Amino acid sequence: MRHDAPVSTPAHHPPILPPATIGILGGGQLGRMLGIAARAMGYRIAILDPDPACPAAAIADRVEVGGYGDVAAALRMAEGCAVITYELEHVDAALVDALAARLPVRPGALPLRVTQDRLAERRFVEDAGVPVAPWRELRAGDAAGLAAAARELGLPLRLKAVFGGYDGRSQIRVASEAELAGAWAALGRPDGQPVLAEAELAFADELSVVCARGADGTILPFPPGRNRHDAGILVETLQPAPVPPAVAEAAAGIAGRLADAMALVGLLTVELFRMPDDRLVVNELAPRVHNSGHATMDAAQTSQFEQQIRAVCGLPLGSPAPLAPAAMVNLLGAGPRRPARLLGVEAALADPAVHLHLYDKREVVERRKMGHLTALGATTAEALERAHAALSRLRWADDGDGLPPPGARP
Ligand code: ATP
Ligand code: MG
Repeated sequence: MRHDAPVSTPAHHPPILPPATIGILGGGQLGRMLGIAARAMGYRIAILDPDPACPAAAIADRVEVGGYGDVAAALRMAEGCAVITYELEHVDAALVDALAARLPVRPGALPLRVTQDRLAERRFVEDAGVPVAPWRELRAGDAAGLAAAARELGLPLRLKAVFGGYDGRSQIRVASEAELAGAWAALGRPDGQPVLAEAELAFADELSVVCARGADGTILPFPPGRNRHDAGILVETLQPAPVPPAVAEAAAGIAGRLADAMALVGLLTVELFRMPDDRLVVNELAPRVHNSGHATMDAAQTSQFEQQIRAVCGLPLGSPAPLAPAAMVNLLGAGPRRPARLLGVEAALADPAVHLHLYDKREVVERRKMGHLTALGATTAEALERAHAALSRLRWADDGDGLPPPGARP
């Protein structure tokens, strides 16, 4: 893929003002929180999502039910919209092209193409002069290729499906020679599909930067967050990341450089590994708001959601300055699939520095992202302690709790 073709920044477009309608591809929690920010500013919202009861449905003016490859549904959704944005990168390229022929799609079609394909993403980042972990392109089922990659990259390594991965799905860790033989079966991708093989890095920290780029090219990064994952799924973020100022500046600089290279209008999130010697290596890009930026809702002058709306509407960006050190912890589903009823909310909110955000998902599913908590503190360490204390007071109701069905009058 070539990225050096000039991409015009549509600075000449007049700003999109309320009560214009913003179309959002995807009605999950990110679409819901984007929609809430847009509504607060007086915009109207149309959503495309396969599920009519998606988390964003409750805050949308209109939901068109359709998958992310359903061009006809996307065009229905776009009717009456002034701009289209998205909450996920796994959208069919043909659908985006059909929309982009009619109205602005921001952050843009190129950022989607780059980030929905892990190989294109690695090449893009390298072309911009930014380091990534050593990698090889393989085909699923190629035992000789995998053996060669293991020799050249070393073990452990990661095998990642090129398309469609999120929350650590569609990737496996190959720890030893003995695991090579069963690796392709464990990844479970049809033979011949492209796969990214990557050296596993012994990083000191995982960081991420959510960076805004305005319609006029203004770059404004939020302070980096420090992330902790559990089996590939984000569980907590500290913001600002407790790292030396030079590391924070370097991380923000990388994010700005990549946002410029993509000429995107909106947000770019860059996930980075900080190596023990403070070198930064890019892991992944997302051209959108990100789970690791949720603390900005309560702890920054402008939330990442408001920032994305301002950017895609061609408005001046808001200040990303933090209000206080903060921690965000994800509230994940646990136990068997069942209606979602959360217990312990009063106890969790007894700490006035704690904020609860629930996504109104109808069912609890093991490890599904159901909501998050943020806490503010004098330091990020204190904020994290408060967030975890609040989290420990919450649990999902089960049959034994004998609760009336959701929606019943108390
Ligand atoms: P998400 O969309 O939630 O970010 P994902 O499925 O796209 O997840 P990655 O970001 O590639 O997956 O990986 C998830 C996590 O697995 C990383 O945040 C990191 O903790 C770990 N990981 C991935 N690749 C590597 C690597 N090369 N070396 C060390 N750890 C890695
Ligand atoms: Mg990731």
